[in-house]
Amino acid sequence: MTTRRIVVLGNETLRKKSKPVVSFDESLGQLLDDMKATMLSKKGMGISAVQVGVLRRAIVIDLGDDEFLEIINPEIIKTKGKVTDSEGCLSVPGFYCDVTRPRYVKISAFDRNGKPFEFEGEDYVARCICHEIDHLNGVLFVDLTDEGKEYKKSHGVV
Ligand code: ZN
Repeated sequence: MTTRRIVVLGNETLRKKSKPVVSFDESLGQLLDDMKATMLSKKGMGISAVQVGVLRRAIVIDLGDDEFLEIINPEIIKTKGKVTDSEGCLSVPGFYCDVTRPRYVKISAFDRNGKPFEFEGEDYVARCICHEIDHLNGVLFVDLTDEGKEYKKSHGVV
């Protein structure tokens, strides 16, 4: 496992749409291992492949207690409720703002071996999943609130 450089706000890579993973091979495993190492080194709770410059639909989320969720090619099946809470992002270091997200989310996805599965997350896990899936579509949390838009403006970034 090696840590990779994090792509930060202002880099146009973050605005691109990631492509589905098609090969569940050794390089995907390597990518996921490196994403996890990079996330842990920066004390993040979730990371998407685009944040290390790889435009593929792969995400790692820290579930706590040394458990990690790897989701490949995720699709949201169902959401419920709404919660507003503070949110940050490894690609926007030092900035936090309140974002409203579903309280519950159910997704379908694939694991690193290409096996399909479904997963249900609540509260911060649901928040992380939605935040990371946004990344795969080129969307950042600073796009979603007035405070975030103000931050982008004041830093001259899009
Ligand atoms: Zn993020």
